[in-house]
Amino acid sequence: MINSGARIAKQRLVVLGSGWSSFALIRAIDAKRFDTTVISDRNNFIFTPLLASAAVGTIEFRAASESVRQTRPDVHFHQAAATHIDAAKKLVTVTDSFTGKPYSYAFDKLVIGTGAESATFGIPGVRENALFLKTLADARAIRSKMLANLEASSNPFLDDAERRRLCSFVVVGGGPTSCELIGELSDALKEATLFYPDAAPLVKLTLVESSGQLLSSFDAKLGEYTRRAFKKRNIEVILSARVTKVSNQHVHVAMSGGNERILEHGMLVWSTGIGPTEFLKSLPFEKSGWKLKVDELLRLPAHPDIFAIGDISDTGLPATAQVAQQEGRFVAKVLNAGDAAVPPSAFVYRHLFSLAYIGQFSAIVDSGSGGVMNARGFGAFVLWRLAYWTTAVSWRNKLLIPMFWFKTFWLGRDLSRF
Ligand SMILES: Cc1cc2nc3c(=O)[nH]c(=O)nc-3n(C[C@H](O)[C@H](O)[C@H](O)COP(=O)(O)OP(=O)(O)OC[C@H]3O[C@@H](n4cnc5c(N)ncnc54)[C@H](O)[C@@H]3O)c2cc1C
Repeated sequence: MINSGARIAKQRLVVLGSGWSSFALIRAIDAKRFDTTVISDRNNFIFTPLLASAAVGTIEFRAASESVRQTRPDVHFHQAAATHIDAAKKLVTVTDSFTGKPYSYAFDKLVIGTGAESATFGIPGVRENALFLKTLADARAIRSKMLANLEASSNPFLDDAERRRLCSFVVVGGGPTSCELIGELSDALKEATLFYPDAAPLVKLTLVESSGQLLSSFDAKLGEYTRRAFKKRNIEVILSARVTKVSNQHVHVAMSGGNERILEHGMLVWSTGIGPTEFLKSLPFEKSGWKLKVDELLRLPAHPDIFAIGDISDTGLPATAQVAQQEGRFVAKVLNAGDAAVPPSAFVYRHLFSLAYIGQFSAIVDSGSGGVMNARGFGAFVLWRLAYWTTAVSWRNKLLIPMFWFKTFWLGRDLSRF
């Protein structure tokens, strides 16, 4: 067992995860008060709003990543996956990412910010045949597959039907991640096919959504604006349609009228929401649905030394980066206050904006003001870029992100596969 506080006489804080919630907490935690150990199965923080851009080469992968160690050199980091929490003994068991060996960490305070995973609702064939967009590895897989399909479809010996299938890109889900990805894919394919003249007339983009509108978390007018923008760009949007089965070449869709449509795909990306990880399912704490119940200070009700933040905590708020980041900062404040006479007041979420890039230098911005201050089109695109540039964490990425944007605008994307 590793006593994570043996090095200095401070409270031992163990933080699980390095995503939006945990990373915000790590950045704000008081090193004089806590001997902090971060345990995450990846050694970086991923700036998820830029993943779709990274997936099609608008920016390079590294510009959407921040190193935990370089951000807080004064916290301990262990690349490992948490597997078990013993709340009574105050121990976390982890599996080292490299040796596969189990270790235990003792803690005085524990923060769980291990996030969620893409939900597939048990639809047959999705896990085996679809790509997802949660991590940089996923973004890399999408970019590689897109370029591989363009390359393969240019083989003069293939028949036309197979070439058409390879150039059929299907995205399932009508939320912000799916809309951003299909918008970015449309931009990237328009540019890439200049260099793949045989593939150009065969490219087909399709978005499938089970509800009757796109972007249901945004103002309905913005969802409709996005649908019309996609239509103008020849992106087929299929609404009120449920995917029932997926194979390595086909997507079976139950249409609202009761008919079945079978779509061909050369690449399928699945982004229909989130669900619990195996780790979260295994936790023996009180849950509300699949999320962990928390009190007003984001602590587990029966275990006041254990906090749950981000997508896994049931605060009744949407699973977004904004919420996760504010929860992480809030718990850092609660912890930094220590046993202060006046306890910190309850967590209050302050909504800023909801933004989504939809392709061709166009975005949508929902100000949450009931439509009064919403924006769309090029102005919204400038706001979208400004918002993400200013929220980029390190100066390295504040420099890299606009550099890649300008590079892509003037010199195009890199189409080489490696
Ligand atoms: C492509 C994409 C685009 C998005 N765009 C936006 C956007 O524009 N705006 C917005 O508000 N939200 C956006 N979101 C949602 C947002 O990213 C999530 O709500 C947010 O990441 C949740 O933060 P979190 O800290 O709960 O989890 P995550 O950020 O998912 O982090 C979880 C962390 O825990 C680690 N982990 C997992 N299991 C274990 C384990 N057993 N042991 C140790 N570590 C573990 C992971 O490696 C990761 O570091 C987007 C999400 C995606 C996928």
